[in-house]
Amino acid sequence: MRILVVEDEHKIANSIKKGLAQELFAADAIYTGSEGYDMAASEEYDLIILDRLLPGIDGIEICKKLRSQEIHTPILLLTAKGQVEDKVEGLNAGADDYLAKPFAFEELLARVRALTRRPKATLGHVLSVGTLTLDTLTFSVEREGRPLALSSKEFSLLEYLMRHAQKVLTKEQIIAHVWNYDANILPNTVEVYIKLLRSKIDKPFTNPLIHTVRGFGYKIG
Ligand code: CA
Repeated sequence: MRILVVEDEHKIANSIKKGLAQELFAADAIYTGSEGYDMAASEEYDLIILDRLLPGIDGIEICKKLRSQEIHTPILLLTAKGQVEDKVEGLNAGADDYLAKPFAFEELLARVRALTRRPKATLGHVLSVGTLTLDTLTFSVEREGRPLALSSKEFSLLEYLMRHAQKVLTKEQIIAHVWNYDANILPNTVEVYIKLLRSKIDKPFTNPLIHTVRGFGYKIG
């Protein structure tokens, strides 16, 4: 899951980014409204955490511009105060939820999880494909009841594949949703991680779940 954080207070932006990284989200922190808007409009994010008060183009303006361009990425608006008008204005501008500052990181995380949940593909926080299950809260993965030890990147990649089970995903889509902007991506990075993942979730078992669709990408199912 890839998240854009737009917040001019560097300390808050960086602590959100760090906290999200610990929960295995790939987050980009951007400190100005105009750059935030450019990133939101050009990159594929699963969620945008947007501060309402930004110098230059503010959060409300960014919401309106994105929605008018048919960009429907979920937006969690951070408001400075818990004023009713602020919340209404934010929701009317196209935000999906809001959170008043100061907030506890746990609450931010709960809202992030609610906004990135895909009801069709998930049963609560556990994803499953065949005999493989992945728990997005405990970061545990099991196949046929056997716990499997995955690195954080392998886990994020598997989660992305499982959220889109039976669908062919291109390398570009995988990179856009699993790695953040400043990550060092080499042309064969996805292949390398798919290979690592296969050695853990498929090799020890009889039916392989990850399939290569030549010329297109990968799918799980
Ligand atoms: Ca601000």
